[in-house]
Amino acid sequence: MNSKQLFEESKKFLPGGVDSPVRAIKPYPFFAEKAEGSKLTDVDGNSYIDYCLAYGPMVLGHSNPEVVSEVEKQLVKGSAYGVPTEKEIELAKMVVNRVPCADMVRFVNSGTEATMSAIRLARAAKSKNKIIKFEGAYHGAHDNVLVKSGSGAAGLPDSPGVPEETTRNTLLIPFNNEESVIEIINKNKDSIAAIIIEPIMGNVGLIPPKNGFLEFLRKITLENDITLIFDEVITGFRIAQGGAQEYFKVTPDLVTFGKILGGGFPMGAITGKKEYMEMIAPSGSVYQAGTFNGNPISITAGLATLKQLDQQFYSDMNSKGKNFREGIRNILEDKNLNYQVAGVSSMFQIYLTDKTVWNYDDAKTADTDKFETYFKTLLKEGVFVPPSQFECCFLSKMHDAEDIDKTLNIIDTAMKQIKD
Ligand code: PMP
Repeated sequence: MNSKQLFEESKKFLPGGVDSPVRAIKPYPFFAEKAEGSKLTDVDGNSYIDYCLAYGPMVLGHSNPEVVSEVEKQLVKGSAYGVPTEKEIELAKMVVNRVPCADMVRFVNSGTEATMSAIRLARAAKSKNKIIKFEGAYHGAHDNVLVKSGSGAAGLPDSPGVPEETTRNTLLIPFNNEESVIEIINKNKDSIAAIIIEPIMGNVGLIPPKNGFLEFLRKITLENDITLIFDEVITGFRIAQGGAQEYFKVTPDLVTFGKILGGGFPMGAITGKKEYMEMIAPSGSVYQAGTFNGNPISITAGLATLKQLDQQFYSDMNSKGKNFREGIRNILEDKNLNYQVAGVSSMFQIYLTDKTVWNYDDAKTADTDKFETYFKTLLKEGVFVPPSQFECCFLSKMHDAEDIDKTLNIIDTAMKQIKD
């Protein structure tokens, strides 16, 4: 069956024909056949240069030979035990050695689980219930944070089924706005347990923090006995060995990981300072558990991935990202298009707006109809970027000069179409 036929079939058995909303590309998504390096191939025989990379995890490209070989070896030794393994300690040590705020690690199965448990932990540690979240930030699909979210939930501010009693404790403020933070803390004196933040917003396109914003958050949270949680599900192991906290030199209390940590397999983690982490069961009384926590396949893939992410890797990725964005800027300049090219290291997005984007409201000024034209042109020509203006794109180790030149030519074509 081809993708069109598969989608017709799929809709009968999977809600909307997909297993996660953002995948429902119109008029129908292409169905994957295989992926290798920087390329994703569909069942219709098309091959795409992939800048979606499964929404971030595949930082080494698809089917990295070391990861494949280590996972194969582990598979024949069993894929779930329900008892601990030595490899969990090895990966935890690697995380602790790289991530400034990490003293200990609890491995879970997804970014969603990680933020859900980190929020619970912060609330328990502070004996307070309210949390602050930034407008447009996405921290997974659980009730506490499904409030005016970005990502697949953009445009669905509140999901039916999420009790008001829950979201009442989630306070929303604009990103990069210090006055709003001060105001909301003053209004809710002594009832805020945590601020949760994507240090670089990656679910409304890409919004970097303004100079000093993260430092400001660190200071005000310390002054007000509030836990600072960095959600590094995207930025973790992508922009530096120690993630955004190393990159921006600001150390939070807790950090959540996902995506890259599992080397392409389901994984998440909560890490942080010992005084917090020791509150997690069975060491402490904050409940967190999972049949597949620390699953040996995900742990093996994570280990095989992190071992390849050395300093050289990050400096190569930084220059690759910078040059690529420069290439896009040149195209825009050539065509007199005043669009925004946002990016940090190997993350990027083009905002089809002439407004510099510092928060969710700015991001929403982008022309989504034009973005659809851009996306479709790229896809037709063999480049796959996430299908929404409000996602961010990724480079991998396997994107080479040829991929990038070809992509820039195709972006050039797409920009011509948008302009006409
Ligand atoms: N936090 C952030 C910053 C994310 O980008 C995501 C997923 N895109 C999540 C949490 C949720 O992770 P998962 O999809 O693995 O549950």
